[in-house]
Amino acid sequence: MKIDHLIDGKAVAGRDYFETTNPATQAVLAEVASGGEAEVHAAVAAAKAAFPKWAGLPAPERAKKIRALGALIAKHVPELSKTETDDTGQTIGQTGKQLVPRAADNFSYFAEMCVRVDGHTYPTPTHLNYTLFHPVGVCALISPWNVPFMTATWKVAPCLAFGNTAVLKMSELSPLTAARLGELALEAGIPAGVLNVVHGFGKEAGEPLCAHPDVRAISFTGSTATGNRIVRSAGLKKFSMELGGKSPFVVFEDADLDRALDAAVFMIFSNNGERCTAGSRILVQASIYADFALRFAERAKKITVGDPQDENTIVGPMISQNHLAKVRHYIELGPREGATLLCGGTGRPSYAPELPARVAQGNYVWPTVFADVDNRMKIAQEEIFGPVACLIPFKDEAHAIELANDIQYGLSSYVWSENIGRAHRVAAAIEAGMCFVNSQNVRDLRQPFGGTKASGTGREGGTWSYEVFLEPKNIAVSL
Ligand code: NAD
Repeated sequence: MKIDHLIDGKAVAGRDYFETTNPATQAVLAEVASGGEAEVHAAVAAAKAAFPKWAGLPAPERAKKIRALGALIAKHVPELSKTETDDTGQTIGQTGKQLVPRAADNFSYFAEMCVRVDGHTYPTPTHLNYTLFHPVGVCALISPWNVPFMTATWKVAPCLAFGNTAVLKMSELSPLTAARLGELALEAGIPAGVLNVVHGFGKEAGEPLCAHPDVRAISFTGSTATGNRIVRSAGLKKFSMELGGKSPFVVFEDADLDRALDAAVFMIFSNNGERCTAGSRILVQASIYADFALRFAERAKKITVGDPQDENTIVGPMISQNHLAKVRHYIELGPREGATLLCGGTGRPSYAPELPARVAQGNYVWPTVFADVDNRMKIAQEEIFGPVACLIPFKDEAHAIELANDIQYGLSSYVWSENIGRAHRVAAAIEAGMCFVNSQNVRDLRQPFGGTKASGTGREGGTWSYEVFLEPKNIAVSL
């Protein structure tokens, strides 16, 4: 199968192609066009040309097409989730039941929102001030390989609904579902040029796209290192930067331990641990640490590692052999830094069943739990982005906050305590864009999603998406 760029509503062949492979089987899934400056220029030019007409459509007309795209995605959930699972190794349970349906919801939600964009008035005795919200223009939307379809739609939906046009660049490791998104957008009646998809690598396609003078806003999701590079090279533009994380999951001795354990297991092992908001530093009060560690490892050992197309699988393969090597490096580093390996590892542990033959060559590691972790160890400070949990003891509330904040990142956080005052205090004190109290990560599309410190700038979701996709203008009329 060949996957081409989508520029101005037409499939555009690549001058080169690269392979995308199935990380569970190593089978080649498709040859994908590899874009560079020429394709980026053509796509930005198409988006620029399509902008005035699309921005000029009354919002209810745009909303109809955006809603239609959501409905088409909902209709194609089985196909899209199978493709996403093949391309990424994320389990069919996640892609089919959560991630692809959520992508459809992103469109229906922003279809409703775009008709409600209103302004503000600030009357004075001498002037009537009011604000207008204009679409920004051509936006560069760049997505990583983890949950790629959901992440792409989280950007495309508000971007288009608010009247902008877009050039979407997916990760070279997971391009397949976005290619379908471009086709479905045309089928939904979204005019040619409004959504363009350029495939390719970061340096060749991503960099010229971000630096293009006609691109007015960049919504980027990816690593902190790439985010920094883009901010330095792209010039003055609107930015939304959704970057890496190493989020604290804080469990006090008065927590509901069964629920906390379930949520802790979910937050580090679901999505194969390849989740930006993973609760990867599990801070546990010293008085319950030993018991928690034992029970957490028992749960981790029972997780089914296997074929991601199997409904019963919880942990599938790592996205690529490079990423597998990175995760293995940290698993091997843990004991050298002084951590105790409670379960898991780079090879199949004796308690775990054999992998099914179909995926025997896949990029697997097993859910890994390290105890006796010091927060200054590399396994605690660096984003591993795999199914590797670090259990770190703390003494009291002040110590928990100190450890939670002793990190460059600030994306998400989790606090578990039945003491309501303490839960609120700690939630307020943790330096992060989001905090979930007695809960795993649960999304509401109205919430501001994003991080602080090295986890990014800007927020997306609900009216927070105005920040990147709309330009407020104040008009002052002398009375
Ligand atoms: P990455 O930074 O390597 O790549 C992300 C995207 O940027 C890819 O499409 C890539 O091709 C492109 N890119 C690379 N170099 C570029 C450049 N110089 N200019 C423009 N584009 C460039 O990240 P990844 O490995 O694909 O994704 C994993 C990272 O994403 C993790 O750090 C994870 O935490 C983060 N992430 C963050 C969120 C969030 O919402 N904060 C969500 C998901 C993933």
